[in-house]
Amino acid sequence: GLAKLRMRLYEMNRETARYYHGILLSPQGSAGMEYFARRGLSPKTISRFGLGYAPPDRFSLVDYLRKKGFSEQEMIQGNVAFASRSGRAIDRFHERVMFPIIDLRGNVIAFGGRILGQGEPKYLNTSDTPVFSKGRSLFALNFAKEHAQPYLILCEGYMDVIALHQAGFPNAVAGLGTALTPEQARLIAHYTKEVVASYDADAAGQKAASRSIPLLREAGLTVRILVVPDGKDPDEFIRSHGESGHARFQQLLDSCGNDVEYRLTKLKQEIHVQTPEGKVRYLNEACGVLAALDSELEREVYAGKLAEEAGVQRTAVLQQVRRLLEKKQ
Ligand code: ATP
Ligand code: MN
Ligand code: MN
Ligand code: MN
Repeated sequence: GLAKLRMRLYEMNRETARYYHGILLSPQGSAGMEYFARRGLSPKTISRFGLGYAPPDRFSLVDYLRKKGFSEQEMIQGNVAFASRSGRAIDRFHERVMFPIIDLRGNVIAFGGRILGQGEPKYLNTSDTPVFSKGRSLFALNFAKEHAQPYLILCEGYMDVIALHQAGFPNAVAGLGTALTPEQARLIAHYTKEVVASYDADAAGQKAASRSIPLLREAGLTVRILVVPDGKDPDEFIRSHGESGHARFQQLLDSCGNDVEYRLTKLKQEIHVQTPEGKVRYLNEACGVLAALDSELEREVYAGKLAEEAGVQRTAVLQQVRRLLEKKQ
């Protein structure tokens, strides 16, 4: 039955993680080890996250798992192998550093594999299987759940999370390469009331951050947005600051604003507010942001700030917000 299959896949994934980790630590894994060393990961971090290396061979994992008693059908169902045209199982991952994905009970449920150099796809992940649904999992939540107070840090990539944990932020988690889902937002909300989204500073990352805001809010979370300076992602930022990486990222955490402030700041960057027309347009759009808030109190607070900053009457802002609200109904 399904329960039995799931048990088998958990066991197989654990063996697979053990295999890739062993390879990484062996002479055969030196390319992977050099890669992780270049990216600043310590041996302790490598062992804590159970990182591994998938060798170039076509059947190395398949042969190993067969010796451990797993069938080719199980390997294919678990997506650690794929079927050749003749039906024979072939390793799914080759010449990649491997990131095991672990669920809240400590089961290995999937893998992400990164290519060592340039090439496509940069990351190859396990497809959904009977034990893995990527839209319902978060990387490193198994570790971060113990550190979820007062907030979790949500980032984009495996390496961001690992760099943050290594730098002393064990409350970091990441999605698995897809847009944040409502299930993931609810999962976060199960462990904490506040989340700091720290996406990549590039256009794709900022777009993803904007899209995640309503989902996180709907899950009942207080949302803050940390924009990493100089177009970096959290991993690059931490590494570029060496010894002071922790302190510098802590400063960003302490000073970053909430989601409303983030949206207003972005509007202001997009609109040329120095001209009167620009200022009116900014105010109109900003009122749109306030009208979308579902608490009267929040609208009041931000209307006050907006009015002060733009040098207009607070009542004028509130009136416009009310007009937009009436239009919506
Ligand atoms: P690195 O620092 O190793 O280059 P990154 O995490 O900064 O990786 P991004 O391009 O910012 O890489 O992507 C963020 C995340 O999106 C990755 O960690 C991975 O989970 C996912 N991802 C990236 N590229 C792919 C891909 N081609 N297929 C599936 N998922 C991907
Ligand atoms: Mn990116
Ligand atoms: Mn990135
Ligand atoms: Mn990166």
